[in-house]
Amino acid sequence: MTTRPPLRPLPPPGDLRAELARLVHATRRLVAAEREGGVVTLPGTPRPPEPPAAPAATPHAPHAATPAAPPPATPPTTPRGTQRAGPADSFVPHVRPLDLPDDWRAPFGDLPQRITACRRCALGEKRTCTVFGEGSAPAELVFCGEAPGYEEDRTGRPFVGAAGELLTAMIERGMKMRREDVFILNTLKCRPPRNRAPLPIEVGACRPHLEEQLAVIRPKVIVALGNHAVRALLGESPGITRMRGRVIDALGAKVVPTYHPAYLLRNAAAKRDSWEDLKTVLRLLGRAPA
Ligand code: SF4
Repeated sequence: MTTRPPLRPLPPPGDLRAELARLVHATRRLVAAEREGGVVTLPGTPRPPEPPAAPAATPHAPHAATPAAPPPATPPTTPRGTQRAGPADSFVPHVRPLDLPDDWRAPFGDLPQRITACRRCALGEKRTCTVFGEGSAPAELVFCGEAPGYEEDRTGRPFVGAAGELLTAMIERGMKMRREDVFILNTLKCRPPRNRAPLPIEVGACRPHLEEQLAVIRPKVIVALGNHAVRALLGESPGITRMRGRVIDALGAKVVPTYHPAYLLRNAAAKRDSWEDLKTVLRLLGRAPA
């Protein structure tokens, strides 16, 4: 017969409420991180009703007005037994609309239109929206992620889910800058299916778009968010834990690799290193870290 260890005594009611609050907070962060990966139901939960046939969500930004091929009626099931979001799922961005002038894309000429029409790689056939990026141009600081995720593909904006909320807090609360003052983009402009890692052929196909964007933005510093972004920007990477903490001259700027905000949502202990990287960025920009 198995002997169970004695139960710990319950904490006093006040502590219990604090513990419950911590659990709720941790659960919300976990769900947000899963949602970031495109997961909307957990294994074993009832399948949501099939959405009615509906056109793809209206792009949030004019540059992202490319309609995609009609999505499948039944969302695909992932290898983990979870289910991906269907086309009619509503999503309210975690990140407020930016306070930018109407013509903020003007410095890029016809590049936004060319990206919207791009079919250089197979990702162009599956996307809902292209995600050009957003921010000021020129800007001294660029944040570069790997590729749009579920929320970005639906809204046409970069980093608008839970990871985007954290990135915004890093910029605004940590670095004391406005999200409008920097430029945020991805190495790919279209979402890879099931948020898989970008393929080298896709990175190569999209690279000219990225280089054109950087030529217009002319950043002093590019923060590469996560290993895939580092590899796409620098051509190779032995891993983000070995790359972070370095400053690399590339693409006419200082490239500072750091963790992707989605990773930080799952690994809070890494936030300390991430903040050290952002302090390096502030020093490179001639701004004193707070
Ligand atoms: S990922 Fe880039 S290269 Fe591929 S279709 Fe989209 S915009 Fe074009």
